[in-house]
Amino acid sequence: MLESLAGSSACDPRFEPLLADFAPSFLQIHAGTIFGMWADMTLAYTNPAWHRFAKENGASELPARWPLGRSLLDAVPDPIRPFFVENYQRCLAESRPWEHRYECSSAEAYRQFHMTAFPLPNGEGLLVVHSLVVELRHRRTEHPPLEENYRAVNGFITQCCHCRRVQRAEPSEQWDWIPEWVQAPPVKTSHGICSMCFSYYSSERQIDRGESPLPFSA
Ligand SMILES: [Zn+2]
Repeated sequence: MLESLAGSSACDPRFEPLLADFAPSFLQIHAGTIFGMWADMTLAYTNPAWHRFAKENGASELPARWPLGRSLLDAVPDPIRPFFVENYQRCLAESRPWEHRYECSSAEAYRQFHMTAFPLPNGEGLLVVHSLVVELRHRRTEHPPLEENYRAVNGFITQCCHCRRVQRAEPSEQWDWIPEWVQAPPVKTSHGICSMCFSYYSSERQIDRGESPLPFSA
């Protein structure tokens, strides 16, 4: 199996036996990214699609920044980190899969992904499989990147960590879609969460797994 997982994937040799229930061909050919993590949420496996994604998105430095052993929580923005920690831990403790839908849009395309975290034997880790389920052109109203409208008195611009809309300085309840800042956030941009995404994550937290409602839209 090690041979079949070789090439552009990466796997901690101690993690490999935990993947015995997954067909090597599935791990190799799945179009979406897959990563494996130990119970302490450090990276133990990345599939070929993960490496392809890095290359195709001009992030060839990604594998170097994400060596096996690095905590995956470093990749999760602060506002939604407790949500992921809670669910990963429940998945490990109860040994049952956890499913979650999330948005990961580019400046041009609305993209929605489905994620399943599969518990691995003896609560030793998780295999997290991502699949693209929706991709279409944005229908959002575009706003120009005028810093004076968005930079708060503390000097920061706040972008939603989920939908990537940007919070207005005034009124602060309004979050706008600014494609230029999805492409390249301005200096001193911090992560927050807009009210729509907060509602989504709150309802997800209350629902005991199963199909997720999708209150957010393209
Ligand atoms: Zn949002």
